[in-house]
Amino acid sequence: MNKKSLLAMQPLRATTDMMETEWADTPQKVSDLYGGPYRKYARFARCQVESGILKVALFFPDNLRTGGYLPSYEVFIDRAAGKFITYDRMTDKWRTAKLDNLDWPRYIRATDGTWMSPSDTKTVQTYLGGDRGGYDGVLDYQEKIREEALVRRHRKVTDAWDADLSPTRGLPKDWNRWVDKVGVQQNYIFYHYKKRGAKQGYCTYCGKNVPISNPRYNKTVRCPYCRHEAVFKSFGKLDRLFTGWNCVYLLQPRPDGFVVREFWAARFYTKVSWETPKVICMEQLRTIYDSRLNPRTYFWWDYKHRGLRWIKGLPNPSWLNPQSSYYCHGDRPGQVYGKGLSQLFQSKLGGTGIARFLHGDHSFMNPNDYLYEKKKEFFQELISKAGLPKLTSECLTNDTALFKAFKGSIKDSLTRALCLDTQRLGRLRRSDGGIAFLTWLRWEKERDTVLDDAVIGRFCKWGIKPADLTFILDRMSPLQVHNYLRRQARESKEKVQQVLITWKDYLAMAEELGMDTSDSIVYRVRLLRRRHDELVLRRNQEDSKSLAADVLKDFPEVDHICQSIKGKYQYADGKYAVVVPNGVLDIIVEGKLLNHCVGGQVRYWDRIQRHEAYILFLRKASAPDMPYYTLEVEPDGTVRQKRTKFDRQGADIKDAEAFLTQWQHIVAERLTANDRKKAAVSRVLREKEFEQMRKDNVIIHAGHLAGRRLVDVLTADLMENAA
Ligand SMILES: [Zn+2]
Repeated sequence: MNKKSLLAMQPLRATTDMMETEWADTPQKVSDLYGGPYRKYARFARCQVESGILKVALFFPDNLRTGGYLPSYEVFIDRAAGKFITYDRMTDKWRTAKLDNLDWPRYIRATDGTWMSPSDTKTVQTYLGGDRGGYDGVLDYQEKIREEALVRRHRKVTDAWDADLSPTRGLPKDWNRWVDKVGVQQNYIFYHYKKRGAKQGYCTYCGKNVPISNPRYNKTVRCPYCRHEAVFKSFGKLDRLFTGWNCVYLLQPRPDGFVVREFWAARFYTKVSWETPKVICMEQLRTIYDSRLNPRTYFWWDYKHRGLRWIKGLPNPSWLNPQSSYYCHGDRPGQVYGKGLSQLFQSKLGGTGIARFLHGDHSFMNPNDYLYEKKKEFFQELISKAGLPKLTSECLTNDTALFKAFKGSIKDSLTRALCLDTQRLGRLRRSDGGIAFLTWLRWEKERDTVLDDAVIGRFCKWGIKPADLTFILDRMSPLQVHNYLRRQARESKEKVQQVLITWKDYLAMAEELGMDTSDSIVYRVRLLRRRHDELVLRRNQEDSKSLAADVLKDFPEVDHICQSIKGKYQYADGKYAVVVPNGVLDIIVEGKLLNHCVGGQVRYWDRIQRHEAYILFLRKASAPDMPYYTLEVEPDGTVRQKRTKFDRQGADIKDAEAFLTQWQHIVAERLTANDRKKAAVSRVLREKEFEQMRKDNVIIHAGHLAGRRLVDVLTADLMENAA
């Protein structure tokens, strides 16, 4: 269906019949629940077949009532293609939803069906070939199309599963008998209660009467005939008897390995069927093993509410999920069907002790657990002979590491099992590499390239795997990355792992801010830490712009004042610098990055505007862009407050205070008479404020200073300019 040509069709207008029907109806008031009065018809519809396409026009009663003759929705159906689409005339947009998922006026929920002329109703049915015509016929058809699409989508997934499971063989001929006699462990001796003790009972294993003595209900004995354990049950009390579920296992070969099939088996007795109990056996789980003993599982469950089938994976173990019921009975030790096992393992796993083990005294187990352990053993044995002390110790303590190390088959040589070649295995030995080294060698082999062993060694020492570098390996070689990380770590005195985090962070931000991250000047930036911090600032500035604009509406002078005082207060020596912000935005960003309150409180803006106190930044000379301490300063250079992260002061402030005293001397020389006048006013205001705080006994409630008097904290922080 071509949208353009659909739109080019003449729209179906409301018929006089329709209009008159709606006008003749008197809407009845109903409860507000449905948002409107009750009408006779929820919607009106008409249809037409044009160029092989069924067009259905839908009208809202309200529109008809007010004389609107154009449809609200037009549904186009192409039956040959099995497709439908709706044009929404209210918003002039195409909609793919079914009729019932389109937006309808709320009142239609209180209202009956759809009005459509009998001939149009018939047209719909004839065109779509369904059981119903009219609006319902269209909806039926749309649901059918959706259903078919869903089935197709599921089939794409399930077909692959079915193909994977198709080599599964049929059950052995004696399977049912084996399940009954061996698989289900529970046996009983039924007896008729007699006052002096019954002398004879029926053994369910033997299937015949056996001599008994002193039967007691539910007592466990050994059948004197077959020597199987059995529980006494008297016929008198026997009503319905369920053995409970037993896991039983069947191992069968497949072209690509073998499969372990888990069944749940039980017997069910009733008073009449005690000689011929019902034997139930349901398959629950299939675990397919390839030649590397790598498992893949399928479980039997309802798939997407479409019935039971094999589903790839394991049942969800979360108790909130109904699938977890599998774990109530499944995944338990059970009887393993023994016939053919030797042959199976001979051919599939090169003849190991497994078959003997499973068939012998240990035949009661979950073979999946056993195979997992066996796989571990194989690899551990292989590796402990290989002269790789580091890899061996990693693998012995960590199963995940072990299975990561081994990629090959358990029949393979060490080289193949590790997925290496002789030359690389030699390098692994010489460097005494562990999993990390091995991972790098494999990465190398896959790409047919060679890295220097010292470089790999250093990556391992830093804890960097190839996967950690995927963000940059498309632009730089591992050697370049190695050199870059080393240099940045040396220059910034940070750990390599930290440099790596900073780098990733930096590139992500650069991308976000629209920089060209394919340019080596950008991605291999020289001063990484500094550029990173700049981007943090820039991003915060972007985020704070609208907030700053709001502040400037109330305090329009602040930006101008900040810029005008730069000459007076800006100063730096080799270690520290006092920086004057450009205005509101800088102060807000500073507050955000240091997580303190300066940018968020009206009184600071007010003080700047009135020249009572300014906000200045104390920075380290080596990182002049990075917030360090925020200062509140009176016009003569008296420092009211010094605050860093979370309104704190660090131990480092003592060192900086010496610098601030020096700075106060410089400022004193730059002051004008006017500045000193402002400072005098400021001092009076400050002392008044302190006095008020003392009177009100203001206590700090939160943060690390909680419980202390605010005025004491502020007085301690005060550095008057004595110069
Ligand atoms: Zn017996």
